[in-house]
Amino acid sequence: MTVPTSTAGRPAPRHRVVVVGSGFGGLFAAKRLAKADVDVTLVSRTVHHLFQPLLYQVATGILSEGEIAPATREILRRQANVRVLLGDVLDVDLETRTVTFAGESTTASLPYDSLVVAAGAGQSYFGNDRFAEHAPGMKTVDDALELRGRIFTAFERAELAATTEERDRALTFVVVGAGPTGVEMAGQIAELAHRTLRGEFRSIATSTARIVLLDAAPRVLPSFHERLSRDTADRLRRLGVDVRLRTKVTDVDAAGLTVLNPQGEERRIAAETVVWAAGVEANPLGRLVAQKAGAATDRAGRVLVEPDTSVPGHPEVFVVGDLMALDGLPGVAQVAIQSGRHAAATIAARVAGRPAPGPFRYFDKGSMATISRFAAVAEIGRIRLTGFVAWVAWLFVHLLYLIGFKNRVTTLLHWAISFVGRGRTQRAVTRQQIVARTVLERVERDRVGGTTVDGHVPEAERQSA
Ligand SMILES: Cc1cc2nc3c(=O)[nH]c(=O)nc-3n(C[C@H](O)[C@H](O)[C@H](O)COP(=O)(O)OP(=O)(O)OC[C@H]3O[C@@H](n4cnc5c(N)ncnc54)[C@H](O)[C@@H]3O)c2cc1C
Repeated sequence: MTVPTSTAGRPAPRHRVVVVGSGFGGLFAAKRLAKADVDVTLVSRTVHHLFQPLLYQVATGILSEGEIAPATREILRRQANVRVLLGDVLDVDLETRTVTFAGESTTASLPYDSLVVAAGAGQSYFGNDRFAEHAPGMKTVDDALELRGRIFTAFERAELAATTEERDRALTFVVVGAGPTGVEMAGQIAELAHRTLRGEFRSIATSTARIVLLDAAPRVLPSFHERLSRDTADRLRRLGVDVRLRTKVTDVDAAGLTVLNPQGEERRIAAETVVWAAGVEANPLGRLVAQKAGAATDRAGRVLVEPDTSVPGHPEVFVVGDLMALDGLPGVAQVAIQSGRHAAATIAARVAGRPAPGPFRYFDKGSMATISRFAAVAEIGRIRLTGFVAWVAWLFVHLLYLIGFKNRVTTLLHWAISFVGRGRTQRAVTRQQIVARTVLERVERDRVGGTTVDGHVPEAERQSA
């Protein structure tokens, strides 16, 4: 089935732009085309735009998923030249200029004159994809809700634990990867254990929870200035987080994980909840487009694009955001927003017969990460902020970029509840999540007959053997 890209009722199709993805790159590309004489079709595998930087707050019960994932259709409802479709793009034919996608019930193709691919990146387990089952990453709303379920039910399991060993394992949370996401997760789990849940349980003291943050790198937040890394590690330790650097994960299973410490010794950490915030890997669509265009990809699978973000040999195809490799630019929201807008501006200029804007120039607005309530680090050019001032800057910037007035209002309210007070309004865990996990664990136990999944013998048994 071919989906016509012109909007209903119009006789001659205008220049047809297909945008793949409703993340920062795709959404801002579509918005930038509002006044252009083009018909835009945005196709994405999710019905929402996702503000990934706040996923960790959904995972730890501060915000609801709706606040960070507004419907793309709603955001673009007033832009008459855009149509939004739900679909998983399977193929791009650069010769016939068609995109093939799987919709809810059918596979369809979309012809294009210009194409913007903004399919983003996924989690990388560095070749150990089986870790994903026990150590979910944090890239999507599903991931955040899965983690929320695991984190809150871990405390419930601890309350019911029959042995100290079982309780300690339930109360051990390991975050792998000490970049901004890992730091934010570790800080928030610590706040949950020490502030939010304090006094709510009868058999356990939640403040005895062990939160471990590990990374193979020698410091936390390696992309920030060293002083900010030090400050962050100190603050995390004061919050009770066990920060372990130069530590490599060699295995993850249902009972915990195995790490190689800086001395080169293997150690087991018995943990019920493992969060993977370590690597990123470009969406497979990047390799597909690159292969077809004869273009190169980098090690993470990102497409090496021309200076104007187009694919070599195909000036009508643009790859933007996390999927693009250009001048070593980082995979951050501002790169995606600005490159999406730049690709769109190039298309609009060509259609209007104006000179194109030329090479993409990134304007670095800085980076920030929160550590706990009232504490963050921020680096804006040469300005380096820590503590409360950085936190206020963080608060302001995130509110500014959140999409939708009502989301800003409710987010502010939920932040007040969590940061000024100590409550969390989004602690619901669905029965579906718990049942699915319990069934999965039973299947694993049956499969490996007493040992944990992957044939690992739990540490206690190994020692007594
Ligand atoms: C947990 C987390 C925290 C972060 N924190 C920060 C931060 O604090 N500051 C910052 O600047 N950046 C942060 N980032 C990075 C930032 O979110 C990304 O750089 C940005 O989202 C990239 O935008 P994008 O449009 O390229 O990709 P994405 O936002 O990932 O969007 C990709 C889109 O493509 C769609 N898609 C994927 N495959 C297909 C397919 N086959 N067919 C159709 N649609 C498809 C997806 O559904 C999605 O809509 C964070 C990222 C994560 C995961």
